[in-house]
Amino acid sequence: MKNILFIAPPAAGKGTQSSLIEKEYHLPHISTGDLLRNASVEDSELGSYIREILSSGALVRDDIIYDLLKKRITEADCQQGYILDGFPRNVEQAEKYDEMLQELKQQLGYVIVLEIPENILAKRVTGRRICENCGAVYNLNTETEQPQQESTCDRCQGRLLQRNDDNIESFRHRYQVYMEKTKPLLDYYRQKGVLYVINGEGTVEEVHQRILAVLKGEAKHD
Ligand SMILES: [Zn+2]
Repeated sequence: MKNILFIAPPAAGKGTQSSLIEKEYHLPHISTGDLLRNASVEDSELGSYIREILSSGALVRDDIIYDLLKKRITEADCQQGYILDGFPRNVEQAEKYDEMLQELKQQLGYVIVLEIPENILAKRVTGRRICENCGAVYNLNTETEQPQQESTCDRCQGRLLQRNDDNIESFRHRYQVYMEKTKPLLDYYRQKGVLYVINGEGTVEEVHQRILAVLKGEAKHD
């Protein structure tokens, strides 16, 4: 098994797909958000620095993220591969990550991109509803994920609510940031021959099968 790196625009289902792969291959799932949260509870100078930054809402310096990531991927459970989520977000970070891998004599592995047209993502975002009681997720704009009644949970009759950032303005902004900063990563990884662009439309299971085909070596890289 090799390392897997997921790249996807907002609302493309990256979280769902990476947790399916995590379970199936028993790979650790590494997100920079988790790394920072874990480091922030440590009783150290670094811990208190990160606590301060996180509570102020500012961004943590890249060099700190690199240090945490490097430490994490040298741990025993990562030696058979891992899933990296939310990193790198731009070409500069990708170059740093490459240096890190070279230093650790690790391989890049698979870079899997979930591709979905912007208008479909926008529909997913604006249709998403979450049960305030049990956390079940529905989608008013997706036939297979609709609740029986528009504002009531099928499972527990709880009220269905829309998350604050599931609105079209917030989505457009996040999508634009993705296109500007993260999309250039595709060319970067294509040149390295490790890029696999997956059609992200369809059911969770359909997309999952496409990803499995890559990991089984049945798909050609881009
Ligand atoms: Zn519910």
